[in-house]
Amino acid sequence: SGRLSGKTAVITGGASGIGRATVELFLAEGANVVIGDVQDALGASVAQTSPNAVYQHADVTREADVKALIDAAVERFGRIDILFSNAGAAERDEGFASIDEASFNRVMQLHLASALYGIKHAEPHMRAQKSGAIITTSSVAAEGTTYGPILYSIAKSAVLHMTRLAAVRLAADKVRVNAIQPGLIATAIFGRALGLDQETSEAKAAVMGSIAELMQPLPVAGQGRDIAEAVLYLASDASRFVTGQSFCVDGGLTAG
Ligand code: NAD
Repeated sequence: SGRLSGKTAVITGGASGIGRATVELFLAEGANVVIGDVQDALGASVAQTSPNAVYQHADVTREADVKALIDAAVERFGRIDILFSNAGAAERDEGFASIDEASFNRVMQLHLASALYGIKHAEPHMRAQKSGAIITTSSVAAEGTTYGPILYSIAKSAVLHMTRLAAVRLAADKVRVNAIQPGLIATAIFGRALGLDQETSEAKAAVMGSIAELMQPLPVAGQGRDIAEAVLYLASDASRFVTGQSFCVDGGLTAG
């Protein structure tokens, strides 16, 4: 038994980083987990660690893939109780002049439309069973104006508003919708954003540790697990009275 026993979760971007840490924690808490990602070998290897996990290729910028992922949960496990829309990637910009139609569409599809498709296709199942928890992924980039690239920050801010809209629309059927706002988390995305792709994991950890000490009130680097623990709260019945909310798990970054 665990805090999610009997529940089925769909986690996008579950092959790596925050998504992977959440897959591992959810499995440990007794959930069935359907992992969607575009890194097929990595995603399949994560699913292989448990008989209660399955992997399915899903590009979250494609509505049909998101629907198929949710359908797979219902077919395989009979229901979908939790949707964690987490997949994402970093894309920098060089100011407004560098933004164009293609980059706008790419970033909005990846970070905003993907979460919208998830809400749309989880909604009928969750309404019918009169329960469900959807967790979207925003960012500290939705706070202030200096925490992220322009398009990314716009998309992550819109995710927060969409989360509140969905929470109110779905509440009558006891479906809850909340957002998580990660701070600086030591994952592939963050390493890439810093140009640390080629560094060893020790070197990366050292750089992230010093960035944390410089920027955050809490002088420790955030890990995927730190976000997963907050997502677990929003996914479990412990948060049954919480909907339409978001919070930063960021070592105090946005408070400082
Ligand atoms: P990550 O790169 O470790 O993991 C992201 C995963 O999403 C990868 O497995 C990747 O293959 C997958 N993915 C990318 N594009 C996809 C697509 N089109 N369809 C399906 N899967 C796709 O990065 P992470 O840090 O774990 O990021 C997870 C989420 O957290 C993202 O939405 C990111 O914007 C958000 N976030 C991260 C940080 C941070 O500091 N790491 C901060 C704030 C928000």
